[in-house]
Amino acid sequence: MCRREQGPDQLLTTAQAVKAAGAQLLRGGAFKPRTSPYQFQGLGVEGLHLLAEARELTGLPVITEVMEPDMVETVAQYADILQIGSRNMQNFPLLLAAGRSRLQRPVMLKRGISATIEEWLLAAEYIVAAGNPNVILCERGIRSFDQHTRNLLDLTCVPLLQELTHLPVIVDPSHATGRRELVPTMSRASIAAGAAGLILEVHPDPTSALCDGRQSITPEQLQAIVQEIQLLTQVLAHKMPLPSVA
Ligand code: PEP
Ligand code: MN
Repeated sequence: MCRREQGPDQLLTTAQAVKAAGAQLLRGGAFKPRTSPYQFQGLGVEGLHLLAEARELTGLPVITEVMEPDMVETVAQYADILQIGSRNMQNFPLLLAAGRSRLQRPVMLKRGISATIEEWLLAAEYIVAAGNPNVILCERGIRSFDQHTRNLLDLTCVPLLQELTHLPVIVDPSHATGRRELVPTMSRASIAAGAAGLILEVHPDPTSALCDGRQSITPEQLQAIVQEIQLLTQVLAHKMPLPSVA
C-alpha cells in the first residue's frame, strides 16, 4: 500500500477491510526503496505512526520495511516484523543491524532481484549469526528477460528451500507478477508448492494507488483469495477429498 495525500483515513479503512477479508498481518511501506529518486518515497516516521494506529484499530500485527542500519531500532519500535527488501538483500550492515537489534523482531528477507538461492541463504545467515534466529524468506520473483510479467516467480525455490533450511518461506505474487489478474492463480500455486504464507498488495482503488497499482488487488479480491486458500489448505492436508476425475 502506498499513500500520501490520500490521507491517514485511507490506511485505516484499508486496514479494516483487509482484516475483514481474512488477512493476518498488515504490511505498509513507510520507508520505500523506489527505483527512481523522483517517485513517492513513503511517509517515513509519520508512516510508522499511521501503521501503529492501524494495528491499534485492527489488532493486526504490522510488518514494514527498514532500509538503513541506523533506522533498525526506530522501525522495530513500531513494527512487529521487519522487512528487508530485495534491493537490500545484500546490504550486509543492514542484515547485521537487524540481527543484533535489541528488540529482536522477526525479519522477512525478500529475495534479491537477481539473487541465487545460495546468496539468499547466506544473507539470511548474516541475520541469524548476528543473533536473531527468526528469519522468514520471501520469494518475490527474480529478474527475467520477459517483459510480460514484472519478474519471474520462481516457485521451485519453495520446495527446494524446504530441503535446504528450516526457515519458513512465503511468496509475494504481487511483486512477482506485477499484474493483478495473475495474483489469484499464483497465490494458489504458491500454497500448493508449500509456501507458509502470502504477502499481497491491496488497495481500495488500485487505479489511484501512488505506487504498484497495476499489481494491487481490492479487499474483495483478497477475500476471495483467502477463501480459496483455506479450501486448498484443507485439500492439501487431506481433510477434503479431491474431486474425482471421470
Ligand atoms: C515491497 O515489498 O513493497 C517491495 C519494494 O518489494 P521488493 O523489495 O520485493 O521489490
Ligand atoms: Mn511495492
